Amino acid sequence: MSVWSAAQPRACFPLLTQQSELIWLDSAATTQKPLAVLDAERAFYEQINANVHRGAHRLGHAATEAFEAARSSVAHFINSPSRQQVVFTRGATEAINLVAHSWGGSQLQAGDEILISMLEHHADIVPWQMLAARTGAMVKPIPLTDALELDLDALAAMLSPRTRLVCVTAMSNVLGTRPPLSRIIAMAHAVGARVLVDAAQALAHDVIDVQALDADFLVFSAHKVFGPTGIGALWARMELLEAMPPWQGGGEMIARVSFDGTTYAPPPLRFEAGTPAFAQAVGFAAALNWLQQQDRSAIAAHETALYQQLAAGIAHIDGVHILGAPHDKGPIASLAFATAHPYDVAQFLDNADIAVRVGNHCAEPLMQALQQHGTLRVSIAAYNSAHDITRLLAVLAETLELLA
Ligand code: PMP
Repeated sequence: MSVWSAAQPRACFPLLTQQSELIWLDSAATTQKPLAVLDAERAFYEQINANVHRGAHRLGHAATEAFEAARSSVAHFINSPSRQQVVFTRGATEAINLVAHSWGGSQLQAGDEILISMLEHHADIVPWQMLAARTGAMVKPIPLTDALELDLDALAAMLSPRTRLVCVTAMSNVLGTRPPLSRIIAMAHAVGARVLVDAAQALAHDVIDVQALDADFLVFSAHKVFGPTGIGALWARMELLEAMPPWQGGGEMIARVSFDGTTYAPPPLRFEAGTPAFAQAVGFAAALNWLQQQDRSAIAAHETALYQQLAAGIAHIDGVHILGAPHDKGPIASLAFATAHPYDVAQFLDNADIAVRVGNHCAEPLMQALQQHGTLRVSIAAYNSAHDITRLLAVLAETLELLA
């Protein structure tokens, strides 16, 4: 395995080369974009811009081809058996809302249960609560152990024939925890429940293979994988998509429309009403292609080494610790302080050109379980270097001394 050097990827990211002092440790909120993504969108607008799936002209055909090729790239990236199983959405949030409306609205009824991991982002909680309010289904949280892992014994006790869906993240956006997905999926399937995996954080770090994973639904956003904002995707089993009714009506999603009745297009177009984000889809594909051209196992080893450097450094600074030490963890850390306020610390870091995130990270139930009002989150990506972590640790130590 080759060694990853962050200097070369940093050079691919115009914002990071132009702001050479900036240390970006907020990639879990959004990643920076490589030139390949900016170039791909610009080339699309300059050379083939036209609406898709409708033009009776050369550009319309070229744009449709580029859009559908982008769908193929996304499908290939997650090893989907077919590109028809990739539905473009505005992001992970919209993808979950789509499943809740369409699959949940048509399949769930009073008495059914949706089990949601305590690690989830609000995007994987609130749509299910809204569905529960409409259908009478019940939402139940899967608790954490004292070590802040998902409690699989509790899950085993909660699973029953009433369980229709289990929602779980592939990587917590707060703690970095990677729950044991294969085990959870097998446990859920054993009682006939479906599983939705939120891969919004994991996709930039882990190789995700939907066939090996055996989940039923998988969601993600482009902007957290070096791609543009405004686009993401839902992947689902074909038989589920085929049985799911549309959730939004409009152009693109129909087979025929008349005032006597309308018929719908097959998936994925059935779920893509209106003009899709086609230029962003091309940028999304460019981001995934860029990532695929890199040595992904070297990136993963590099990110783990940076995380370990961070953890070792934090252990030597008084008044701060990393929350949770899960067995399997991605390069995301939430820091808790003995006395300092995370917002004050983040302000000092920002003054030193170090960008982190503070707050509840759209995971209030998890914050309640952690008994924290908010944390300071450090999230690492391929373009970070050992220098970034050394500098963060130095400024953090100085700041905590100053605030003591
Ligand atoms: N799930 C997780 C784990 C996330 O971190 C996020 C974004 N913070 C989302 C879902 C929602 O993603 P988006 O806002 O791009 O739809």
